[in-house]
Amino acid sequence: MSLLDVRNLTVTYPGGAAAVRGVDLRLDAGRKLGLAGESGCGKSTLALALLRLLPAGTRITGEVLLDGEDVLTMKWGRVRAVRWAGASVVFQGAMHSLNAVHRIGDQIAEPILLHRKATAAGAKRKTGELLEQVGLPAARADAYPHELSGGQRQRVMIAMALACDPRLIIADEPTTALDVMIQAQILRLIEQLVADQDLGLIMISHDLAVLADTCDRLAVMYAGRVVEEGPAAQVYEDARHPYARALSAAFPRIGDPGSRFAPQGLAGDPPDPAALPSGCTFHPRCPVALESCAEQDPALREAGPGRRAACVLAGPPPDAPLAEPQDPQALQEARPTTP
Ligand code: ADP
Ligand code: MG
Repeated sequence: MSLLDVRNLTVTYPGGAAAVRGVDLRLDAGRKLGLAGESGCGKSTLALALLRLLPAGTRITGEVLLDGEDVLTMKWGRVRAVRWAGASVVFQGAMHSLNAVHRIGDQIAEPILLHRKATAAGAKRKTGELLEQVGLPAARADAYPHELSGGQRQRVMIAMALACDPRLIIADEPTTALDVMIQAQILRLIEQLVADQDLGLIMISHDLAVLADTCDRLAVMYAGRVVEEGPAAQVYEDARHPYARALSAAFPRIGDPGSRFAPQGLAGDPPDPAALPSGCTFHPRCPVALESCAEQDPALREAGPGRRAACVLAGPPPDAPLAEPQDPQALQEARPTTP
């Protein structure tokens, strides 16, 4: 049985259109799945739906099986327990997630006291251990969030996520707000912790290069759907879906802001969920679209061993013609929206 088995997940915000549409994903214990896609493609919505962290009135259908148990039909008491001990989330921008008026040690200890029924002394000891695990001295427990740097605060968020020994960590753009060197340190830390503790990891980023470097498998989302999924190196280096190819062309190397051009031949933004194009939702931006792509929305289907893609051309050779790179100025202007 998979650690996480997401089946036909659809998420509709109150009064809105579906931001996630029929997503199927699986993750085994100890494995790392990267979720990529431009801003607005539904990555965070998907992540939040896994733990039912969405605003009241949001409609979630499908199944989210965590160790075989459907999170979507659980009683709330069980959901709360699962949020710490089953799976926990590390968000981008730790400053907003930490409480400014409480010492960080108390914030890390809180779920340990609550969900682990630990004694005060036991929680304090565990808090010190967690801080050391994420590379901070145990004595920093007495610090307030504003006394820490951005990278240190993100380490605290990771310590909190690990507090109740979850089996799955969901990291939503955990390094986006950090500078490149700190970003690399935090990524290595997450990788190390996941490997040491045999955790499952879902890492979300708009940067395919970061994900390819960190994860075993990659799923690329567009307009609320997974359009390509497969082994990380293959999706990054030899994508089957034109959107995934454009994304990997946009992020050729880690930590090199100068190389982050807009996706090759790919201007504009992903569509608003309330105004999806007909047929394949990517066809208006697709450099290799056929006439029929305006009518048919291809299902995600097998595109090689262990690979899936949602494109009628699924499997054009890697050197299939993409639009000629435009002049750098035009590319800059067409830069994809990043969070
Ligand atoms: P990503 O994380 O890939 O950038 P999101 O999941 O944040 O994408 O957003 C997907 C879509 O859902 C976007 O069109 C966004 O505007 C919409 N959306 C996100 N949060 C809300 C919300 N609380 N209420 C209504 N729509 C939302
Ligand atoms: Mg997001």
